[in-house]
Amino acid sequence: MVTIGILALQGDFEAHVRAFLRCGAAAVEVRAVDELKSVDGLVIPGGESTTMLKLIQLENLMEPLREFGSRAPVFGTCAGAILLAREVLGGQQDSLGLMDITVERNAYGRQLQSCVAQLEDGLEAVFIRAPIIRRVGNAVRVRATYAGSPVWVEDGLHMAATFHPELTDDSRVHQAFLDKVAQCRH
Ligand code: GLN
Repeated sequence: MVTIGILALQGDFEAHVRAFLRCGAAAVEVRAVDELKSVDGLVIPGGESTTMLKLIQLENLMEPLREFGSRAPVFGTCAGAILLAREVLGGQQDSLGLMDITVERNAYGRQLQSCVAQLEDGLEAVFIRAPIIRRVGNAVRVRATYAGSPVWVEDGLHMAATFHPELTDDSRVHQAFLDKVAQCRH
């Protein structure tokens, strides 16, 4: 069985833990470098990317997270997707740069703080002050779109969603990450 680490510095990490437990996988909270050693894949949850970034820097996790991502799958949701992106628009901000995508923070505007949308295959997507993926590299696979923009993408080892699959009962997105992690271990 694979063990998924959930970066638990800030944001809705507990909902991800519950989502993986529902899938029958092991999930543990990660707050320090040592805890990265015992997980096969990592989730960076939704929250506030600026705050999460500060905490990552404070805990000296920037390089360890990049190193982890060079050999194991990382899945970012919403703020986590912002942290994974190579380029962030809407305010100069550092990122891990593990995925060849450009995201624009809070791109749906102030009016659309949050919404629930129906995606392809009936996938329910909860958007909360979500970013928009403005560019994807050639090697990036788009797994779902909303209003003409990619909202669930994969780039090699890594996966990002601008919505919050951990807030619905549909386990397909978490299961897709588990499949990726299992494949990567073989
Ligand atoms: N608006 C947040 C940010 O820019 C992301 C929101 C979320 O993760 N739900 O970091």
